[in-house]
Amino acid sequence: MVHIASVAADSPAARAGIRAGDALISINSHPVRDVLDYRFFITEKKVALALCRDGEQFEVTLKKREYDDVGLEFDTYLMDAKQSCRNKCIFCFIDQNPKGMRESVYFKDDDTRLSFLMGNYVTLTNVGFDELDRIKKMHISPVNVSVHTTDPELRVKMLNNRFAGDIMEKLSYLADGGISLNCQLVLCRGINDGAALDKTLDDLFSLRHAVDSVAAVPAGLTSHREGLFPLEAYDKNSARKVIDQVSRFQERALRESGTRFAFCSDEFYILAGLPVPDGDFYEGYPQLDNGVGTIALMESEVKDELGEELPPVTVSATVFCGMAAKDYVADWVRRIAAKAGGTAPVEVIPVENRFFGSSVTVSGLLTGSDIVEAARGIKLNDRVFLPSKMLRSEGDLFLDDMSRTELEKKLGRPLVFTDTAKELAEALTAQ
Ligand code: SF4
Repeated sequence: MVHIASVAADSPAARAGIRAGDALISINSHPVRDVLDYRFFITEKKVALALCRDGEQFEVTLKKREYDDVGLEFDTYLMDAKQSCRNKCIFCFIDQNPKGMRESVYFKDDDTRLSFLMGNYVTLTNVGFDELDRIKKMHISPVNVSVHTTDPELRVKMLNNRFAGDIMEKLSYLADGGISLNCQLVLCRGINDGAALDKTLDDLFSLRHAVDSVAAVPAGLTSHREGLFPLEAYDKNSARKVIDQVSRFQERALRESGTRFAFCSDEFYILAGLPVPDGDFYEGYPQLDNGVGTIALMESEVKDELGEELPPVTVSATVFCGMAAKDYVADWVRRIAAKAGGTAPVEVIPVENRFFGSSVTVSGLLTGSDIVEAARGIKLNDRVFLPSKMLRSEGDLFLDDMSRTELEKKLGRPLVFTDTAKELAEALTAQ
């Protein structure tokens, strides 16, 4: 039974007399527990809704076009409490947040429904085979899975969860039901790389009829790891080893199935001091959310922009970015500014992450206070450019809770947020 928060005016539900405060019990006799049930069963052209008002049950039948919205709104997106995770992964980034941040920062979500609806990665440790049946029946696909390793004992140890060992059974079960899968491997140096990584890649490759792609990313280690499992960061040599190992696998996968199948994230190439591969290598960029191919994609977008007519740069800018991509960002900005012409200076400033620690080098994890610190003692140009991914999804706050307005005030300059090369070129050359 799900509480109805509001009913859109003049919607089929409103016309049928459904009111805010009513509870939805079932659709066409199928009980509704959450957003998955609701979305699946409400698509029919004719839906009989069983409802409850003040303890009295009643039923209404709505006729509509398939997939049309009936106008019901619920308290939360999931129509149910968010499922928190039951793991205690040795590399969990949430455990490595500094103390004293807003409570929601420490919430560990591992809700399979968010994977289905929003593409979040989930470990499948808190879902049973009955829930997997629901996925198969509703044909929710793809499912994004944080696998990390397919070795049962090692996965139990890495996730600190004695129920984590059956990942291959679960993946096979979904694969047999025609569900596509994308997999993520967070690699911890000396733990699930080496022979364990070979096994994981082989196991996942055996499910290649269902597994679309695999991303290998290095575990992010902040300087707030007191009392946590001792982990060693990847350095140049160990990152190269991983790239070599995955490259050998890719050659075999290409020969046997025409796809590279597994990809290392950009961060591995940067750590290894190697250039990232070209865009073609990434076969349509299936793993951008894991930082796989983002640099190659941006490079190809920059090339597209350089083929366009660009107005001259007339307002000066200071562009801040993380340490990892600093050379790439400086190169993109330089080429765009050179193509556009104009006399206003554009400067790129790499920013050290003091909030999480200097080993965290990606732009998306920089905070407002990091930018303030980096700007100390330098003369800022007329506008300040920042990567959009520094802001949380609502677009209002940095990870340290500083607001956009607060940072703007502290810097005394307007902030410009960009994501794609097009946005960067347009913003740099805006008159
Ligand atoms: S699944 Fe692991 S990494 Fe993800 S939130 Fe839970 S403990 Fe952290």
